Amino acid sequence: MRPPSCVICNQTEGCDIVIFKKSQKQLELEKKGSADMAFNPPNQVWFCSKHLESAKKHNDLTADEALEEMK
Ligand SMILES: [Zn+2]
Repeated sequence: MRPPSCVICNQTEGCDIVIFKKSQKQLELEKKGSADMAFNPPNQVWFCSKHLESAKKHNDLTADEALEEMK
């Protein structure tokens, strides 16, 4: 398994996970019982300490929406 790295800058040090709102697509896949969703839920995203605070401010959005806002 590869070490967690920041989804924005690929930094691996000091990373922490931010849990975003689940997208409609994720909810549907979970309902179908997709194993991939259980192991790698797209609403759980790693960020380094530099991007963590900003990411947390957007955790009322889905991960895709949040990343769009943070660009
Ligand atoms: Zn980062």
